[in-house]
Amino acid sequence: MSEIIDEKIEGLFQAVVKRNPGEVEFHQAVREVLESLGPVLVKYPEFGEHKIIERICEPERQIIFRVPWQDDRGQVQINRGFRVQVNSVLGPYKGGLRFHPSVYLGIIKFLGFEQTFKNALTGMPIGGGKGGSDFDPKGKSDSEIMRFCQSFMTELYQHLGEYTDVPAGDIGVGAREIGYLFGQYKRITNRYESGVLTGKGLDWGGARARKEATGYGAVFFLNEMLRVRGQSLAGKTCIVSGAGNVAIYAIEKLQQLGGKVVACSDSNGLIHDKKGLDLALIKQLKEVERRRIEDYVFHRKHARYVAKGNLWEIPCEVALPCATQNELNGKDAAKLIKNGCLAVAEGANMPTTPEGVRAFLKAGIAFGPGKAANAGGVATSALEMQQNASRDAWDFEFTEKKLSAIMTGIHQRCYETAEEFGTPGNYVNGANIAGFIKVAKAMVALGLI
Ligand code: NDP
Repeated sequence: MSEIIDEKIEGLFQAVVKRNPGEVEFHQAVREVLESLGPVLVKYPEFGEHKIIERICEPERQIIFRVPWQDDRGQVQINRGFRVQVNSVLGPYKGGLRFHPSVYLGIIKFLGFEQTFKNALTGMPIGGGKGGSDFDPKGKSDSEIMRFCQSFMTELYQHLGEYTDVPAGDIGVGAREIGYLFGQYKRITNRYESGVLTGKGLDWGGARARKEATGYGAVFFLNEMLRVRGQSLAGKTCIVSGAGNVAIYAIEKLQQLGGKVVACSDSNGLIHDKKGLDLALIKQLKEVERRRIEDYVFHRKHARYVAKGNLWEIPCEVALPCATQNELNGKDAAKLIKNGCLAVAEGANMPTTPEGVRAFLKAGIAFGPGKAANAGGVATSALEMQQNASRDAWDFEFTEKKLSAIMTGIHQRCYETAEEFGTPGNYVNGANIAGFIKVAKAMVALGLI
């Protein structure tokens, strides 16, 4: 029976590859989920009859558009914009916008696919989608960023709405970009529809703890994985890749819970500070001055900067990849394991390659996949939507408590599901299966749409 199912799943995967040529990240994300689903199709044969996998792998809608804008010299620039609305059976499409030169359809589809199961795992009423552009915000002036965001929203607005599709930030899109996007949406529609975007500034409809939520949430998830193994973060040496939104607040929560974070990075290099990272300095450099992480060592002479260095070679007990997809490969995983790493929680989306994931699972270390571990961001976005709908604003402590409870719930769901389906401790299976079942059941209930 299981061989027949495995063959069927392999056939479905090959069909996805054929139908979506060249979209390697999308293939990778689909394969990773499908590999967990054999026992699910045995338990729920109706998912096969309803062709749930085939339908889930075909986004409901894919929007690609031209984004023309003028730079500060008056030159016309053209970028490409995307919004992929993957699945809306659980609620309006929800997922961030990424502005990065590497963005193309395959990246947005992989992110939207992951997002669908992640959102289901949160238990909140949100569907899955993702968007973005190959626009590179690095080195652009505020005016250029504003003109780009206005042009992007001038096309995208018609596909959005608080009950339709609610974007947020991701790589290259923070509160500044969300502000310009929201301003243009408001201007075009003549509606102050707060719930159409999340990650807004606190003065104009944003939620407290949203900025911190993805990083904090990843550490809450990590803490749960350690707890069930009778361990804690206190005194553990930690490393975090990236120095953006997710990385900064992962470092903050790790430090609050007693971890010693000794290294982080950006796409140019890494900083290693054996005394423990000075987070206030990193925030000043990255959030206020928008500088490179390299500048850290001008202020902290004992620390070292390694251009193009490999972060994963730094010995640690806890590692959090919080930068981008496929940043941690099989060799990196082997190095981490050899150096005594006990736990890895993915703050980024799909940062570990399939070889890396296999190595972690084989070694039996605690491994929290992004779908589960970084779901705190979107969960808090859903809390922002709740506050917008009720014209309310909760305080930080209340929101953080809710976030913590949500992450504990996600951990428990993944943990129990992994056990139920015969792979105890395997959070990859737990997350894929629990997320998939929730979406699949709703798809069956809503009929062929
Ligand atoms: P930011 O843009 O704030 O930061 C991204 C960080 O990662 C920067 O330090 C950046 O370095 C580095 N980085 C980006 N691309 C690359 C690359 N190709 N190679 C090496 N380093 C890179 O983004 P976020 O912190 O918001 O997002 C980080 C990850 O977390 C992404 O995978 C995102 O999808 C995921 N995520 C984010 C959520 C959120 O709420 N923001 C929610 C859930 C997941 P540099 O400045 O040099 O480019």
